[in-house]
Amino acid sequence: MLESVENLIELQKIDNRIAELENYLNEIPDELKNLKNEKERLAVQYEELETRLNSLKSERNELETSSSEKNRLLDNAQKKLTTVKNNKEYEAVLKELDTLKKEIYEEELKVLELNDEIETNEKDFKACSEKKEQVDKQYEELITKRDEENVSHRQELEELREKRKEAVKNVKKQILSKYEMIRKARNNLAIVRVENETCTGCYMKVPPQLYVEVKKEHAIQQCPNCQRFLYFYEDAEQEQTAKS
Ligand SMILES: [Zn+2]
Repeated sequence: MLESVENLIELQKIDNRIAELENYLNEIPDELKNLKNEKERLAVQYEELETRLNSLKSERNELETSSSEKNRLLDNAQKKLTTVKNNKEYEAVLKELDTLKKEIYEEELKVLELNDEIETNEKDFKACSEKKEQVDKQYEELITKRDEENVSHRQELEELREKRKEAVKNVKKQILSKYEMIRKARNNLAIVRVENETCTGCYMKVPPQLYVEVKKEHAIQQCPNCQRFLYFYEDAEQEQTAKS
């Protein structure tokens, strides 16, 4: 086999593995995407429930403060009742007592309703908080696992990039720049086999004369359709025959 072809095949092998590793490192797996979505959804829900719970509790606090103030006023009014001077004053205090009792009753009723609502919300909040903790933990574990896997992939990638620097030294400048152009234009694949007179890059038949040239291996040839470099290699035995 032509040395220039062999060197390009070697380079192509390195580039294939580099592309494979880069894809792996850049791609976020579905499992991780789903967990991240779930984690974000729970964080929003957690915040909403917490805000709602705090607002209910502060509403209850205000009512309780108001009720205790009204109870104090009620005590005062009841004391006043024993010291009234006339009927008119008596009726006014009775009316005040009546209003206060009614307001206290309504506020206490509202506090009871709030207690129920708070209890339900606390249950939801607790459930959400537990689920959130669980999903956060799963997410962290998966990230750690993936990071560990990626360490070895990154290392291999570094080694390949070094290996590539050496491999390109063996390729003539002119051929290398063509190789890079084709690789960029043709989905990373710049050198392919010819099989049954067909380019295995674009699956078009190559002209018979070109096929003969590729087989002869006098000079490196390109597919007239996809421009990829072509090489002929049917099996080891044939290669031996060609070399001898
Ligand atoms: Zn082709």
